[in-house]
Amino acid sequence: MIRVRFAPSPTGNLHIGGGRTALFNWLYAKAKGGKFILRIEDTDLVRSKKEYLDEILDSLTWLGIGWDELYHQGERFDIYRDYANQLLSKGFAYKEGQAIIFIVQPQKLKIQDLIHGDIEFDTSLIKDQVLIKSDLSPTYNFACVVDDAAMKITHIIRGDDHISNTPKQVIIYQALGFLVPEFAHLPLILGAEGGRLSKRTGAAAISDYRNMGYLPAALVNYLLLLGWSPGGNQEIIDIKEAINKFDIRDANKTAAAFNMEKLSWINAQYLRMLEDNELLGYLKPLLLEKK
Ligand code: GLU
Repeated sequence: MIRVRFAPSPTGNLHIGGGRTALFNWLYAKAKGGKFILRIEDTDLVRSKKEYLDEILDSLTWLGIGWDELYHQGERFDIYRDYANQLLSKGFAYKEGQAIIFIVQPQKLKIQDLIHGDIEFDTSLIKDQVLIKSDLSPTYNFACVVDDAAMKITHIIRGDDHISNTPKQVIIYQALGFLVPEFAHLPLILGAEGGRLSKRTGAAAISDYRNMGYLPAALVNYLLLLGWSPGGNQEIIDIKEAINKFDIRDANKTAAAFNMEKLSWINAQYLRMLEDNELLGYLKPLLLEKK
């Protein structure tokens, strides 16, 4: 069975990029009759905040992205330490004080990315990897591998910004004797002017769009088009139809640019499709707030 995960760190709000990653994972699970796992990567004890966690969960719920299982890495530190000790006793790692460090052996690695095709890495360019830090918390790359294996994740769908982490993770899978899952790295979302997505060019939180009055179905439709197309020139696509047509292998290979006008146009189409009472349902809380 297909099992995918969305793994946000509660160190900030859910933004457009994270929303799209969550949506593509969820949609792939729905399209294939699989499971969508939500894993909260709250290993950074200083930067992780309950208010961000609540905001992320609320935003996903508002978008209509429900999860089948929920895990918190903060509750799993013992598991990471056990695996790190295993690597230590097998000679794959060494200690530096309390920290446990993985020995990277030189090898040429090839990953078959479902979106980009073959990607090759030379691990001689990667330095030894910290698994457990001296404060006994796990690093992202280590906790991620232990959990993706423990949670039986079959497909890792995440942003292109994680491509450089992939070889660091694959060598840990190999050392632990775990099956390496499939990878699909989604191209970046650029700002309207082609640069990095910034607050000014559309990188606001999903909850900001909610507060601006966008309909969740319209935002979902727009997030879908930021990296996938149902074919032809179709731009308005109902989520059920998207579930029937979606395959992660068809995701775009090149970066998409965020376009506020397009989002507003899509929103207008969805507004026109609403029945009066539905429209009233959306307007009422906004009007009451403005009183
Ligand atoms: N916590 C990581 C992030 O928010 C997850 C990356 C991944 O999906 O592996 O970027």
